[in-house]
Amino acid sequence: MEVRKALTELADTLGVKYEENVDFSRHCLYGTGGNADIFFYPKTAEEVKAIENALKEIGSDYFILGAGSNVLVSDNGYRGAVISTEMLKGITVKGKILTAMSGEKLSDVVKYALYNSLGGIEFLSGIPATVGGAVAMNAGCFNKCVGDYISYVVASDGVYTKNNCGFGYRESVFKDKGICVLSATFNLENVEYEQSEGKVAYYTSLRRNRQPKGRSCGSVFKNEGFFAGKVIESCNLKGMRIGSAVVSEKHANFILADKNGKSGDISRLIKHIKKTVYEKCGVELHEELIYVGEFDDEDQL
Ligand SMILES: Cc1cc2nc3c(=O)[nH]c(=O)nc-3n(C[C@H](O)[C@H](O)[C@H](O)COP(=O)(O)OP(=O)(O)OC[C@H]3O[C@@H](n4cnc5c(N)ncnc54)[C@H](O)[C@@H]3O)c2cc1C
Repeated sequence: MEVRKALTELADTLGVKYEENVDFSRHCLYGTGGNADIFFYPKTAEEVKAIENALKEIGSDYFILGAGSNVLVSDNGYRGAVISTEMLKGITVKGKILTAMSGEKLSDVVKYALYNSLGGIEFLSGIPATVGGAVAMNAGCFNKCVGDYISYVVASDGVYTKNNCGFGYRESVFKDKGICVLSATFNLENVEYEQSEGKVAYYTSLRRNRQPKGRSCGSVFKNEGFFAGKVIESCNLKGMRIGSAVVSEKHANFILADKNGKSGDISRLIKHIKKTVYEKCGVELHEELIYVGEFDDEDQL
């Protein structure tokens, strides 16, 4: 309680918007999960740094949240602070260089680039992520990833040139160390508007054909030299349901949640898939999604 009081006092002093006892399910695409103690909504890099420093000083746990398109939040919620990047907005272009604040949606960045006759990142348009989340996860598809187009990243503890970002498959130094991405600067290519628009439409239709609609986090498991979806499908797990969570009939690496679903059902289904795939195929699956908060013993993986 003392920690919470210190945090709200700090937010009041800095004029940073915050909310207490926040329903996390409203902030992630699965639409599941309990309450977080407090959400901060900084609008500037300075506000992020001040909040982070205070949280560290107080010793409070904290989680940096983008669009919540790759998180599974415990039904018991999150005991700590959430720094939401949703108000960190702004995009600028200079020549072939585009800089976007971390709270910008990837699809908006692609559109902004397009209006400036810049492209290269059209493949990212269908990923429902923020810039910060995409950089932290090194999001990608169609054999390309965000890191390929990054020039440098400004984080809350300094500037990272591309080579220092620790980009790997769904990996970065920001995700590993919980460092907040404030903005990302992309190296783009000059393109013809129509050509680039055509690419966006092409990638969108590929997604529509391959991926199910509904509440999901995209691919649950990493593709580590094999397609996790194919392995799961080969174990006859398509359509497998536990409570409010079901393995998609369209793409077996997607778990869909019912409206008002439970994270516990999703985590139990994940556990069941991992066990079945290991027993039947000898393959160990690893999650791409990020767990937030404590999961009950029976759900732990
Ligand atoms: C329908 C659907 C399709 C998808 N398709 C793809 C795909 O093709 N390719 C792909 O790679 N992913 C895909 N995803 C997964 C997801 O969109 C990506 O992982 C995305 O990068 C997550 O971004 P986010 O802003 O939602 O981050 P969140 O889900 O909010 O957070 C994910 C991680 O990033 C960290 N993070 C978020 N913002 C910041 C920040 N500013 N600084 C530091 N760390 C931060 C969080 O702490 C967390 O560890 C898909 C998801 C859905 C629902």
